[in-house]
Amino acid sequence: AKQLGKNNYQLYSFTRDITSYKKYILEKDMRKAIEKEEFEIYYQPQVATSTGVIQGAEALIRWNHEEWGMVSPGEFIPLAEENHLIHQIGDWVIENVCKQIRTWIDKGYTTRPISINVSPIRFMKKGLVEYVADLLTKYDVPAKYLELEITEGSLLKSEKNVLNTLDGLRDLGIKIAIDDFGTGFASLTYLREFNADTIKIDQVFVQNITEENKKDTAIISSVLHLAKGMDMKVIAEGVEEYEQLNFLKQKECDEIQGYLFSKPVSLDIFEQMLETGYIK
Ligand code: C2E
Ligand code: CA
Ligand code: CA
Ligand code: CA
Repeated sequence: AKQLGKNNYQLYSFTRDITSYKKYILEKDMRKAIEKEEFEIYYQPQVATSTGVIQGAEALIRWNHEEWGMVSPGEFIPLAEENHLIHQIGDWVIENVCKQIRTWIDKGYTTRPISINVSPIRFMKKGLVEYVADLLTKYDVPAKYLELEITEGSLLKSEKNVLNTLDGLRDLGIKIAIDDFGTGFASLTYLREFNADTIKIDQVFVQNITEENKKDTAIISSVLHLAKGMDMKVIAEGVEEYEQLNFLKQKECDEIQGYLFSKPVSLDIFEQMLETGYIK
C-alpha cells in the first residue's frame, strides 16, 4: 500500500509539471499567435426550438498551435485574462467577425446575428463602445448583426462605467446577451437594471433535464417565464439529447444551441449552413 501511495504521488507531480510546462509555453506563444494567424473562429448555430431554422450563431475562438494542435479556449482564455493579452485577442475576434459579416452581406447570404464572447476584463476597460462603433463603420456592418455575450460576473460590479458601456452599446443598436445564466449571482434586480436582449441558460441546467430532476427543470421553467414577462429571448445551451429538446419545445424556449443540432464548425461549413438556412 505504501508503494502504491508513492507511485500515485509521482504520477501526480509528473502531471502537474506537464501542465505548468504547457501553461508556460502557451503563454509565451500567445504573444505571437495573432501575427502568425494561428487563431481561428468557429461558429455554433443557434436554431429556433420549434423549427430548427438557424437564427444566429456564437463565435468561438480556436487556437491552432503549431505543436499542441487545437487548444481549447477553456484552456487559454483564462491565461490570456491573467496576462492581459485578452484585450488584443478579444479585439481581434470582434474585428474578424465584423469583417466576416461584411463578406456574407457581399455574397448575398441571409446574414444572421453573430454573438461574441466578451471577457469581463475587456468589458470593464474603457473604450469598448468606441472600438465597436469604429468597426461597424469601417466594415459598414449594421449593428443588428452583432450581439455581445457577457457573463453575470461582468455585471456584478455595478459600476457606473459598466452601465455606461451597456447603454453605449445599446445606443449603437447592438444586442446584449447574458451568458451562463444561473451560474453566477445575478439577481432579478440585475436583470431589470441591465435590460439585456437575451438570456443564455447555462448548460448545467439543460443537461440535468430529466424526469427525475425536478429542481433543474423548475429553474428552467421559471427563467423562461420571467424572460417572457421581460421581453427577453431565451437560448438554452448545451442541448445534446432529444429529451432535452422536447422539454424545451414544450416550455416554448425560443432557441437552442448544442451538439444535438451542431458542434461549433469552421467557417466553410458554417457558410454552407448559411446558404441554405438549415443544418445539413
Ligand atoms: P461559453 O461562452 O459558455 O461557450 C459555450 C461552450 O460550450 C463552447 O465551448 C461550446 O463548444 C460548448 N458547447 C456547445 N454546445 C455544447 C453541447 O451540446 N455540449 C457540450 N458539452 N458543450 C457544448 P468552447 O468553444 O470550448 O469555449 C469554452 C469557453 O471559452 C466559452 O464558454 C467562453 O467562455 C470562452 N470563449 C470561447 N471563445 C471566446 C472568445 O472569442 N472570447 C472570449 N473572451 N471567450 C471565449
Ligand atoms: Ca458564450
Ligand atoms: Ca455559455
Ligand atoms: Ca461558460
